[in-house]
Amino acid sequence: MIRENVQRLLHELPEGVTLLAAVKERSADEISQAIEAGVTVIGENYLQESLQVINEVKGEAQWHFIGHLQTNKVKRVVDIFDMIESVDSLKLAKEIARCSKRRDRIMSVLIEVNSGEENQKNGVAPRDVEQLIREISSLDYIKIMGLMTMGPRFGDAEESRPYFRKTRELFEKFKDFHLPNVEMKYLSMGMTNSYKVAIEEGANLVRIGTKIFGEREGSHN
Ligand SMILES: *Cc1c(COP(=O)(O)O)cnc(C)c1O
Repeated sequence: MIRENVQRLLHELPEGVTLLAAVKERSADEISQAIEAGVTVIGENYLQESLQVINEVKGEAQWHFIGHLQTNKVKRVVDIFDMIESVDSLKLAKEIARCSKRRDRIMSVLIEVNSGEENQKNGVAPRDVEQLIREISSLDYIKIMGLMTMGPRFGDAEESRPYFRKTRELFEKFKDFHLPNVEMKYLSMGMTNSYKVAIEEGANLVRIGTKIFGEREGSHN
């Protein structure tokens, strides 16, 4: 099933839109199947989980960290991942820069926008995105490659549209800023129930789990 699901999605996505397989709670074997079917980007939420699977996964892919990241985990995440999509504070960015410098690499990151301005959600509020980007752009060893948002969860994807649109407007705005260490290339938004609307609103990286692997057993998402 994983193979068919991936191939259907790859066929369906417009050119220029990259499929990221969100693999929380999935086994190394499931992840390997997705890569074999054509997935090129894997998204992990938890460091611990990725350490359990990453060495057993077969095939080549980019690994993106898409979960909430605590500063004490940054060192390991920088060792393993190709991109961190969930940067939402200067403190976190500084730690990423510090660890990347020690490894003599430049870490690509996305800024996570709390587009719904929800109290308990991660991400930086839309009105604070500009300041955060300006501050991070002065750091070495870290490069901002775009924006990511989850948006509030709705049964009806149409309700997500204004939040995706707001994030897209920020994305376009910072494209024109030409700040050092900032290249607004990726707009990561849309999941299983909302990716179509997200693409209509300009997403070029969609993070899909359920539609590839089926329902998750656990309740966290
Ligand atoms: C789980 C998750 C997804 C994918 O969710 P589905 O509804 O299973 O497609 C995307 N992004 C993030 C950050 C996630 O945690």
